Amino acid sequence: MSATGENQDRKNIWRVVKVVPESHDTNSVYLEGLDEGFARRRAGQYASIRIMRPDGWSEPHPFTISAAPEDQLLRFTIKKAGKFTSAIPDLMPGAPVKCMGPLGVFCKDIDTRPSIVMIAGGVGITPFLSVLRHFRNIGATNKVTLFWSNKTMEDVFASDELAEMTTALNLQVVHCLSREDDVIHYVRQEYPKILLEAGRLSGDVLSRHGVTPEAAVYLCGPPPMMESALEELQALGVDPAFVEQEKFSW
Ligand SMILES: Cc1cc2nc3c(=O)[nH]c(=O)nc-3n(C[C@H](O)[C@H](O)[C@H](O)COP(=O)(O)OP(=O)(O)OC[C@H]3O[C@@H](n4cnc5c(N)ncnc54)[C@H](O)[C@@H]3O)c2cc1C
Repeated sequence: MSATGENQDRKNIWRVVKVVPESHDTNSVYLEGLDEGFARRRAGQYASIRIMRPDGWSEPHPFTISAAPEDQLLRFTIKKAGKFTSAIPDLMPGAPVKCMGPLGVFCKDIDTRPSIVMIAGGVGITPFLSVLRHFRNIGATNKVTLFWSNKTMEDVFASDELAEMTTALNLQVVHCLSREDDVIHYVRQEYPKILLEAGRLSGDVLSRHGVTPEAAVYLCGPPPMMESALEELQALGVDPAFVEQEKFSW
């Protein structure tokens, strides 16, 4: 490898600072490093990462940077799915992680939209957490309605942080819980802009919470959830061609 190649390779290697559980199946890994390319990232971008295995570097996997672009540490919030993601909780401080990026254009011009609808399925919340952390840092006034679909309240993470954000930002959060029949006991009177819906995200839920055909819609999650959300949006008159999308398939 050339000297330039070696330098680049060293810059790409970040070190684990800590791994913090977010929920029963999701962890945030925080990394420190010196690659200035990542200092110029935008909210909502992702990186392709490799971890060290006994037989060398793993294959690369894509993950959104859930930290705000202003944050020094990179943070990835990772749900256990298969072999790679299940190894994340075992990463020890100091372990090397190779990061390529920042990549992607999702949410590129989101700051310019005065009124925003975010629709997330499960861990598809990560680009929106990055955007909202960025909005909090810069004191943005954009009106945001976030719909977040999960099976149960157990799957929801960062809920206190989101609740606090509804007091600091022009933000309303609608949790849609597909496997909960009774959501009333999750209501917190002190956070009136955190709303709860039992059942799947539907056109009815979207329209009751103010989504109109003109809305600037951003959608992220696993493919089946995204397909269903697009159908519901289309029935409301939102043109799918204008919905900004990030698909968590690999
Ligand atoms: C741009 C982008 C950003 C992402 N950001 C995040 C993030 O912030 N947090 C996060 O947790 N995940 C994110 N993902 C998803 C993440 O990359 C995968 O969950 C991870 O790479 C899976 O690796 P694994 O080895 O653990 O699982 P695998 O063993 O590869 O797969 C896990 C499960 O998914 C199924 N599967 C395999 N291939 C596919 C496929 N093509 N489509 C659908 N299902 C499949 C497998 O059958 C298995 O059940 C992102 C994906 C993309 C493309």
